[in-house]
Amino acid sequence: MSTTTAAAALVLDDVTLTYPDGDRRLTALDAVSLTVPPGSLTAVVGPSGSGKSSLLAVAATLMRPDSGRVTVAGRETTGMSEKERAALRRERVGIVFQQANLLPSLTAEEQLLAVEHLRGGSVRAARARAAELLESVGLDEAKRRRRPHQLSGGERQRVNIARALFGGPSVLLVDEPTSALDHERGARVMDLLAAVTRQHGTATVLVTHDRALLGRADRVVTMTDGRLG
Ligand code: ADP
Ligand code: MG
Repeated sequence: MSTTTAAAALVLDDVTLTYPDGDRRLTALDAVSLTVPPGSLTAVVGPSGSGKSSLLAVAATLMRPDSGRVTVAGRETTGMSEKERAALRRERVGIVFQQANLLPSLTAEEQLLAVEHLRGGSVRAARARAAELLESVGLDEAKRRRRPHQLSGGERQRVNIARALFGGPSVLLVDEPTSALDHERGARVMDLLAAVTRQHGTATVLVTHDRALLGRADRVVTMTDGRLG
């Protein structure tokens, strides 16, 4: 691994993204550049509609920008095929959205094991690791056996975070994880995200509109009309 790879797990370089808007195009990201080192947390703030979720979608390789480069774990992604991008995403990117999107019929532990199943890995070998990861985000053995409706909103978000970390990602992307939680629970989820960023060495980008939570971030950047300041 080269030193430049180690220095930045996620690099967006001069990224522009537009969406169709009637017979014109709406510019959601306007020449955005951002570098996120491993083991650090960058918070993105900005008004609704300013392009924060679009930024995460591009960083996640879920959307291909109109121009610019997106480098994940040292690999430039905009020139890759969809198949290559999907493989890189599976191996290197953890995503946590606002709603936990857990499968209703699965226990907390099974949410993680389902990821391993999709990867074609050994579920048996993954079981101990799933238990350990869930324990580390604060879910004891009894809670690990519960289904989503038997867990609180904060606990569901912890399962969501553990699931995103399960594959050992280089990049962790988190979109408004605390918006469905009260301030106290939101603060605890933020503490957890700061802690896992250090422990797992992820380059973490977190979108939030809760300014009270920004103290946990290593860096705060502001989106305004698709531009990063
Ligand atoms: P934020 O997350 O900051 O609220 P978004 O990235 O969701 O902002 O949206 C940025 C802009 O792009 C907004 O004007 C929004 O309406 C527009 N937009 C988002 N997604 C789409 C889409 N799939 N198609 C067309 N326009 C979109
Ligand atoms: Mg958004």
